[in-house]
Amino acid sequence: MIDVVDVAIVGAGTAGAAVAALCAERGLSTICVDRRPLHEAGARWVNGVPAWAFGEAGLQPPQGEELRAADHVFHLVVGWGPSRLTLRGHGLLEVDMPRLVERLQDLARSAGARLRGEVEITGIEGTRLRLADEAIDARWIVDASGLSGARLLRQAPVPRTDLCAAAQQVHALADPKAARAWLAKHEASEGHTLCFTSVAGGYSIVSVRVEGDSVGILTGSIPALGHPSGQRLLDEFVAEHPWIGARRFGGARAVPLGRPRDVLAEGPVALVGDAAGQVFSAHGSGIAAGLLAARLLADTLAEGGDPERYAVRWQRRYGGLFAAYDAFRRFSQGLSVSEVERMIEGGLLDEASAIAALRQELPPLPLSQLLGKARRLLRAPGLAARFAPVAARMVAAQGLYRGYPAEATQRARWCTWAARLLD
Ligand SMILES: Cc1cc2nc3c(=O)[nH]c(=O)nc-3n(C[C@H](O)[C@H](O)[C@H](O)COP(=O)(O)OP(=O)(O)OC[C@H]3O[C@@H](n4cnc5c(N)ncnc54)[C@H](O)[C@@H]3O)c2cc1C
Repeated sequence: MIDVVDVAIVGAGTAGAAVAALCAERGLSTICVDRRPLHEAGARWVNGVPAWAFGEAGLQPPQGEELRAADHVFHLVVGWGPSRLTLRGHGLLEVDMPRLVERLQDLARSAGARLRGEVEITGIEGTRLRLADEAIDARWIVDASGLSGARLLRQAPVPRTDLCAAAQQVHALADPKAARAWLAKHEASEGHTLCFTSVAGGYSIVSVRVEGDSVGILTGSIPALGHPSGQRLLDEFVAEHPWIGARRFGGARAVPLGRPRDVLAEGPVALVGDAAGQVFSAHGSGIAAGLLAARLLADTLAEGGDPERYAVRWQRRYGGLFAAYDAFRRFSQGLSVSEVERMIEGGLLDEASAIAALRQELPPLPLSQLLGKARRLLRAPGLAARFAPVAARMVAAQGLYRGYPAEATQRARWCTWAARLLD
């Protein structure tokens, strides 16, 4: 059997389900398939997502049980403390991802999209997607199949040094009194996030939030740099804290860091989400980027544009921001605890810049002034010397991506420049 549609989407996680909903709402005939059962598609844990991203993507923000916390106090602790930044007014939402994915899938269905689970895409020929014993013909094809998905544009594997091994689990509280005592020891209260950073290499975190009768734990690190994985950090933390009870839900997976893919579309095929490397590298967050890409792609196709037009628009609008923070990520992953402390003392890392990073926005200080700030760090000359070229790269990324070429023939040259300046 052959299905014929405007848009066929591979992957019904957040990015794919959002593309399906937004395309169907705009009147495009849409089909979205996932190799897993639909109720198991996408992220199965709790994610932090900046609230503004929902508005910009044209989606209602999470509410009710989908929303686990909003704008809560966030302690960014250096190592296991005591040095910290306490962040308020950051606008981050703690989102129950299985519920968000379900809502996006429901939106897609009610707008007329067809969704099918347990359907694996095995290949592509022109505008035809191959399934086990059938095919889908589509005008446009969207690869939203994540990091290790269908690779419809033959995306190269992500280097292991650009992979964050993350884990997130929600557990019951076995001993609420002991949990409160632990929070008090770390000068935090119920509902706050205590995010211990650089505990296994500069990039790593163990982030803990106790609320009601449960505790959420998020961990991540880059194992290829010689550090324990997020899952191991999480298991060790649970084993060392007997007040943490039985696991309720969660999961673990690799997140692609690194700059977004240079080529986000080719002919009829567009990439979105993790498949496109659209992840905010500084903290390995891909939900907001995937939703924004879904909106831009749906708008572009509905306006009569094509995937390549979407790719140019995404790179010009968001590419510089993502590439700039990836330059910062590669710098910060090499920092020791005492170097992060020195960055805070020198004012290079403060509440405003940490909130901007959580919100996935450029720092409030113009990037060019970051260079001046770095010089003030000269009291720590080694650190300043290492940071200066990073600040320069962050500035260069803005200009480079604003000039992302509309013509495919000029793209190879742009990619060479991007690699030379940024990698
Ligand atoms: C533990 C953990 C914590 C995280 N925390 C955060 C956070 O706080 N904030 C944040 O923004 N991000 C976070 N992330 C990252 C975020 O979860 C991902 O960026 C996001 O889930 C990517 O969404 P996606 O839709 O692009 O891909 P996925 O969620 O990977 O969905 C892809 C879907 O495609 C399907 N698929 C794959 N191949 C095929 C095929 N051949 N045929 C059909 N279907 C296929 C898969 O079954 C899957 O359902 C975290 C990640 C992890 C692992």
